[in-house]
Amino acid sequence: MYKLILAVTALPLIMAAAPLPAPAPVIPPPALIAALRDDALANDHIAWDITEGLTTEVGQRLAGTEAEARARDWAVRRLTAMGFANVHVEPFTMPVWVRGAETAEIVAPFPQKLVLTALGNSGATPAEGLTGEIVAFDSVEALIAAPDAMVRGRIVFIDHRMMPTQDGSGYGQFGAPRRQGPTIASKKGAIAIVVRSIGTDHHRNPHTGVQSFADGARPIPAAALSVPDAEQLARILARGRPVTIHLTLTPHFVAPGQSGNVVADLVGGDPSLPMLLIGGHLDSWDLGTGAIDDASGVAIATAAAKRIMDAGRPLRTIRVVWFGAEEPGTFGAAAFAKAHGGDRFAAMAESDFGADRIWKIDTRLGEGRKAVEDALFAAVAPLGVLKGVTNKAGGSDLDELVEAGQPVIALRQDGTRYFDWHHTPDDTIDKIDKGQLRQNVATWTAMLAVLSGGIAEPKPSRWR
Ligand code: ZN
Ligand code: ZN
Repeated sequence: MYKLILAVTALPLIMAAAPLPAPAPVIPPPALIAALRDDALANDHIAWDITEGLTTEVGQRLAGTEAEARARDWAVRRLTAMGFANVHVEPFTMPVWVRGAETAEIVAPFPQKLVLTALGNSGATPAEGLTGEIVAFDSVEALIAAPDAMVRGRIVFIDHRMMPTQDGSGYGQFGAPRRQGPTIASKKGAIAIVVRSIGTDHHRNPHTGVQSFADGARPIPAAALSVPDAEQLARILARGRPVTIHLTLTPHFVAPGQSGNVVADLVGGDPSLPMLLIGGHLDSWDLGTGAIDDASGVAIATAAAKRIMDAGRPLRTIRVVWFGAEEPGTFGAAAFAKAHGGDRFAAMAESDFGADRIWKIDTRLGEGRKAVEDALFAAVAPLGVLKGVTNKAGGSDLDELVEAGQPVIALRQDGTRYFDWHHTPDDTIDKIDKGQLRQNVATWTAMLAVLSGGIAEPKPSRWR
């Protein structure tokens, strides 16, 4: 059973009386949680500093490349300097796809340039490009329903509009043209595919993202048009005349490369207790500097852990992981699950949805954790964070562990602005709102204060 005790004053006495059995997990006093939370809300600069440092001193961090390796070195140095223990890299190898030339123009009826970018794992055109007639669809379903003869030898265009939502739920639904369109188009004999970017902005920036040719589909050139360019193409198509475009895309796979997960621990007072696992992903797409996806994510989780560290030693160990190679297909998550799937975690949480404020928390902690959930929701309520569901949560790099039954918490961020910049050249640090970032870190700090089982060895001068 969980019980409320005054951990700050009581635990040092208990620990002095060794060799008593390990203390049962406790929930720290609300006043301590509130103090940690409110200090983060007013003063946190750690998350900003990490995001600024990583995006400035490393920049883009495409998975499996030399840039991601530099990012790992940076991460090890920073986490060590912050005082984390057991800082190390857990390496793995992976296929590495890199971008080449990417240009397009309408040849007829109204010659003009189009702005696009290759989707991850895209096939290549010949070096001199290829020319073909556009066949347009308004959804993946319409492409599936089309006779192969309509598609064969042509360039497919899927024009499917995504609207912004607070919870980002449109990404699953409206991301289908990017994720499934290339495979379907290839199997129907298309020579290439362009999709309207999976984005909610009207900047002339295309949104990249991963897709994978499945079911033996032959790789074909696959690209995303910026939203204004997709709308321009739709206007031209609406004139009813055949539209021909010339497309040059030369991405390719290089030799398999090395990536890795960077792991760091805040060692708890009772290492025999299941630990907390938190993090984000270190890699980014190559177009911007990966500020909101996902430098801010690793920064938020790490800043919250650092705040607990500065308050004293938590009862449970908090393990921080900066996952490698999330973008091209969660290779880091797979390697981590393979190495640590047998470990027991008290809870896991990942930050991978920008840097805006948390508005809701969903959990899936399992049976017998109601006291912890109640303490968690009470602790974050003053930040305007709502109680969500308690039977469903996840995180991109955690889902394999979640499926294996590990408990998880999802701190839901406001995603209204996220898909304006997601996977574009515009994913840069100037998009981050420092006030919202502090609220985010404050929420994570309160969560860790509750879930870590209390501050077993507080630093008295600061927190009494
Ligand atoms: Zn991400
Ligand atoms: Zn991403």
